[in-house]
Amino acid sequence: MTDVYVQQGGAPAQMAYDAISSVFSEDPSALSVLLKVNTGFQGPAASGLCTHPEVVRGLIRFFKEKRTKKLYVGDSSIVGVDSTEALKSAGIWAVCQEEGVECLNLDESGMTEQEIPDPIMVSRLKMSRLPFQMDRVISVPVMKTHMYAGVTLSIKNMKGCLFQKDKTRLHRIHQAPPDLRKGKCLDYGIVDLMKVCYPDYAVIDGVVAMEGFGPSGGTPVELGVVLSSRDALAADLTAIRLMGMAADDVPHLNLMREQRDLALSDIRVFPADYLKWSRRFQLASEHDLHLSYPNPKVVDRGACSACHAAMVQFFRYHHQEYENGPEATLVFGADAGPEDCRGERVVLVGNCTAKLRGEGRAFCKGCPPVPSQIARTINAGTTLDD
Ligand code: SF4
Repeated sequence: MTDVYVQQGGAPAQMAYDAISSVFSEDPSALSVLLKVNTGFQGPAASGLCTHPEVVRGLIRFFKEKRTKKLYVGDSSIVGVDSTEALKSAGIWAVCQEEGVECLNLDESGMTEQEIPDPIMVSRLKMSRLPFQMDRVISVPVMKTHMYAGVTLSIKNMKGCLFQKDKTRLHRIHQAPPDLRKGKCLDYGIVDLMKVCYPDYAVIDGVVAMEGFGPSGGTPVELGVVLSSRDALAADLTAIRLMGMAADDVPHLNLMREQRDLALSDIRVFPADYLKWSRRFQLASEHDLHLSYPNPKVVDRGACSACHAAMVQFFRYHHQEYENGPEATLVFGADAGPEDCRGERVVLVGNCTAKLRGEGRAFCKGCPPVPSQIARTINAGTTLDD
C-alpha cells in the first residue's frame, strides 16, 4: 500500500508542516535535503503560478526542528526567466532569509550529464548538479493544469532540474513516440526523466492552484489543500482526482503507472472521504487556445515552455486587436520549416525561427519573445529594429 495524506482548510504553513510530518519518518540529522519548489515563471506570490511561500515556510520549520544536516530550497525557471527573480517574486526568497535557509537557482550548482537507463525518447540529459548531491529531494509543486502535459504536479515539477537550455529538450524530440494513443513525445520524455530524478517525497501545494491555460496563463483556484506522500506518482494520481479528473486522464501519469505496475487500489488516501474537497478544474489544450482565438493562426513546431508562455500571454492581452483584422500566421519553434510559412502575413516568433527569415516574413526576436513585441511586429508587418 502507498499512503497519501490530504490536509485541508488550515493556515498554509501549518498544513505543509502536518503534511510532511505525516510521511517523513526518517532521522534527517544526517541527511541533506532539497525542497525543489516550482518557480518556473515570474509573477505574484500565492497566485497559483508558483509554490506558495507559506507552504515552503511550513516545510522549512519541520526540517529545522528535526535538525536536518543541510537544507536547501531551489528551482531553475524556464528559458528567459531569471530564476533568482522568480524565487523573489514568489515570496520564497524572503521566507528562506527569514528562516535562515539557503535559497538558490539550481543552474548555479553546475551541470551533471545523466545517462537514461532503457531510454524511450532521450538517452542522456543535462541536469543541475545539486539534486544529485542531496540525500533526499522533496518535490514541492503548485497544483496546476498544463496545456501540453495535462497537469504539472510533483513529477512534472522535476523538469525544473534540467540544466539551463536542456529544459527545452523534451519539447524538441525528433522521433515519433512509441504509441501516440498513449502519449506525446513530451509524456514519454517525462518518463525518461523520471528514471534519473524521481523525487523521494512529494508535497503538493493546492492552497492556491491554477486552472485553464496553465502553467502560466491560467486562473487561480483557492482549493486550500496540501497533499503529501512518500511516492510522487501516488500523490499526483490523488491530486488529479481533487482537480476533478479521472485517474487515467493524464498521459504521463498513465505511462508512469504502466512502468511501475502501480494499481490504483494500492493507493490509500487519508482521509478516505477526501473527494469532498474536490473541484472540477477547467482544462485547456493548445487546441482550445486556437478555438478561442482563431486569428492569428499559430504553427508550433517544437517550441519550448517559454515560447508557449509568450504565446498564451500574447493571446490573453492582445487577441481583441486581431479578431476582425487581416489573417496572420505566427510560427514558433526550432523545428519549423519553409512549408510552415504559408499565408499572407507570416511572423516568425522567437530566435529559434531566425533561420527562416527572408521572403517577406516578419521576424520577432527574443528567447523567449515578448508578447507586446509580437503584437507590434504583426501590426508593422515587418521586422522591427528594437
Ligand atoms: S526561441 Fe522560443 S522555442 Fe526557441 S529556445 Fe527560445 S523560448 Fe524556446
